Amino acid sequence: MELRIQNLSKTYANGTVALQNVSLHISKGIFGLLGPNGAGKSTLMRTIATLQEPDTGNIFFDGENTLENKQNLRKSLGYLPQQFGVYPRISAETLLLHLATLKGITNKKERKNVVDYLLHRTNLYAKRKQNLGGFSGGMKQRFGIAQALLTNPKLLIVDEPTAGLDPSERNRFYNFLSEIGQDTVVILSTHIVEDVKELCTNMAIINQGKVLLQDTPKNAIANIHGTIFQKSIAKEDISEYQKKYTVIANKLFLGKPVITIYSSSEPGNGFHPKTAGLEDVYFYSIAAHQ
Ligand code: ADP
Repeated sequence: MELRIQNLSKTYANGTVALQNVSLHISKGIFGLLGPNGAGKSTLMRTIATLQEPDTGNIFFDGENTLENKQNLRKSLGYLPQQFGVYPRISAETLLLHLATLKGITNKKERKNVVDYLLHRTNLYAKRKQNLGGFSGGMKQRFGIAQALLTNPKLLIVDEPTAGLDPSERNRFYNFLSEIGQDTVVILSTHIVEDVKELCTNMAIINQGKVLLQDTPKNAIANIHGTIFQKSIAKEDISEYQKKYTVIANKLFLGKPVITIYSSSEPGNGFHPKTAGLEDVYFYSIAAHQ
C-alpha cells in the first residue's frame, strides 16, 4: 500500500498559492503532515481525497492514477474533514446506519453488523442510543472516525483531528489511530508537534504550500543534534539577538524570555546546548526557509 504524490501545485482563483510542487511518498502507518495554519494542509488533503483538482501534478495510490480514476480511490478512502457536521437530534447508531446505506451497504443484517463493529471499535457502543448533540468533542471525533471507517478504507485521511480534545480524549484518540495505522495508510494533518511525536512513523513539514522536510521523526531529530542552543535574555535585547543568530523560538520562562537558536558551531556568548526535539526540527525548518 503506497501513495505517491508528484509535483502537485494549486493556486486558488483569488491568486493564493496553496501548493507549490508538492511531492511525497507515503506508505502504511501514520504519516504526519505538520505545518502552521494556512500552510496548505487542507488543500493537500482535499486534493488527495479527490474533492478538488490540482492545477498540475499526479497522485498514484498502489500504482493507479487517482485523478483519472476518482471513483476507484473513493471506494478505498475514509475521510474525516476538519469540520464535519452531525445532526444533533439523531443517535450515533441511527446516523451510522443511515450513512452505511448511503455508502451502499444495502443488506440490513450486514449493515447492522458493520455498525455494531464500528461502535465497539470506537468505544461508542454504550452511547449508541444517545443523540449526537450531547456528545463531547472526543466522542464526536470518534464518531467521525467510525463514519470514515464504514467502507473499510485502505487510505484514511484525518484533518486536524485533535483540535479541541482534552488531554485524555487526545490520548485515547492517539491509541485508536495507532491501531488503525497498522493495516491502513493514515494521513494526519496537524499544527500540533506533539501529535506527530506521539503517533507518526513518517512525517513532512509543510509551509507556504511547500514541503520543507520529509523524514522519520527520529531521523529529523538526529539530523539537528548538536545545533540547538538556548539562553535566557533581557526582553529589550530580543531584536539584537534576532539580527545576530538564527532564532527559532522565543518563549517566556518564569516571566523572562528564553531564546532558542540554531547554530552549526558552538555560539559561545552564554548559550548552552539544548537536547533537540521535534519542536526544534519544526521551528528550524520554518525559520530556515523564510
Ligand atoms: P491549512 O490547512 O494548512 O491551514 P489551507 O489549505 O486551508 O491550509 O489553506 C492554504 C492557503 O489557501 C491559505 O492561505 C488559505 O487562506 C487559502 N485557501 C484555502 N482555501 C481557499 C479557497 N477555497 N479559496 C481561496 N483561498 C483558499
